[in-house]
Amino acid sequence: MQVRWNFKLIPNQEQTAKIDRWLVTLRKHRNYALRERKQGWDNNNKGVAVEIGIGSVYAWGSYCDLETQVEFGVCYPLTCPVQRHGVIPSELGMMVKNSKGETVWDSAGGIQSKVTTLLRSYREDFKQIDSDVLQRNLANLDTAYSNYWKHGRGFPRFLKVLNSFEYKPKRVKLVSFTGNYGVAYLPGIGKVKFHNSRDLSIVAETRTCTIKRRGKFYYISILVDISESLPEEKIPSSVMGIDVGINRLVALSDGSFIENKEITTNLSTARRLAMRQRAASRKKKDSKNKSKAYSRLANQQHKLSLKRDGYNWQAATKIVKTADSVAREGLNIPNMVKRAKPKHDGKGGYKRNGVAAKSGLNKRILDCGWGELFQKIAWLAAKAGKPVFAVNPRHTSQECPKCNHTEKGNRDGEKFVCRACGYAEHADTGASRKITKRGGLSFPPNQRRLPADCGKVTPRKISTPLWVESRNLNLSGREF
Ligand SMILES: [Zn+2]
Repeated sequence: MQVRWNFKLIPNQEQTAKIDRWLVTLRKHRNYALRERKQGWDNNNKGVAVEIGIGSVYAWGSYCDLETQVEFGVCYPLTCPVQRHGVIPSELGMMVKNSKGETVWDSAGGIQSKVTTLLRSYREDFKQIDSDVLQRNLANLDTAYSNYWKHGRGFPRFLKVLNSFEYKPKRVKLVSFTGNYGVAYLPGIGKVKFHNSRDLSIVAETRTCTIKRRGKFYYISILVDISESLPEEKIPSSVMGIDVGINRLVALSDGSFIENKEITTNLSTARRLAMRQRAASRKKKDSKNKSKAYSRLANQQHKLSLKRDGYNWQAATKIVKTADSVAREGLNIPNMVKRAKPKHDGKGGYKRNGVAAKSGLNKRILDCGWGELFQKIAWLAAKAGKPVFAVNPRHTSQECPKCNHTEKGNRDGEKFVCRACGYAEHADTGASRKITKRGGLSFPPNQRRLPADCGKVTPRKISTPLWVESRNLNLSGREF
């Protein structure tokens, strides 16, 4: 099984300076490569897609005919070497790759990696960086591009700050990891101490390593192959429904609650964050004071995120321990925290649209960290062999868990009273019981109210849920 483990690094002064320098050069390298690709595309392919009427989608690494500007997938003597990513180096040899004896035009990433190798021969700042790290930097840009073309994500952005870089598999060596402190050898940086917070003796192999900067702290995130594997999923005999919210972080179907600690939105922290943000943005541009102010802000935000992480782990552990399976809402959080749409008044101006209230609500939603909480639950459940059901979140707080009567008037603030059958409950608890039902598990008969101990809930049937999260868990992509 592959898992990602994080360790806190303890680099010395020299190593810290080196990592910071690398991050600046790597950011410039990435931005340069992105600009080259973007400009090539803008200059050469503008309007082509509309003229030939095939839509705006081309294949990677294809070339167009000079006359018709129709693209071909192969190299052809009378075609111009214009690619959708438009990278044209000064030497023709760089554009052609001959790995199998065939002449094919190289992709943008391929060309730029050759140029990068060349750059290392005469640029001092590039020479200092490990060549693998530079290549991974380009590979990350390639991923960003393919996410844009193939998976409908946003166009790759120019970065103002880069906070991480990556080593290829097996490049980083763990020199020692027996005591409280371990030592890792990072090519180009040297032997760096780290807090040995996990049992590394069970690791069969280390894969890719990422070095991260968070505030003034540095972390190493290692993808490791461990001998343990996940247990088989058992058929559950009990289910815990959870309803996430803002006033209470989680309402459980056994009637208990997990409070919302409001890590960043409690009055004093929110005020301090706003003050620091305002102070930083008012400092003189490009001054030392400005960068100091922003690093103070970054430190505080990092500490708060650690706090939230710790609290959510506790919450997830509590939830997973109480039952054999977990049912939760399949929320689309990015859609929930969108800005309020502007309302036109028909005279060229705008009507009030409640944008301030909505942005305040968005802050509180993001402060809860629901998405991360769901990930933690999924991981803990997978380790315990318990399935997690993500159910349709529609009308969970308006539909009666007992008689399925749906009406807006059922809910009044924190109270839930069914207008059809009179079932009364705390609104969030009611919603969590509705979620439990939708998870494909139903309540036992002859019981008006659920007992306080949710372990007594026995399912009558298990229908196919929408999807079981723990089976779709991509462990290699998660950080634990
Ligand atoms: Zn009812």
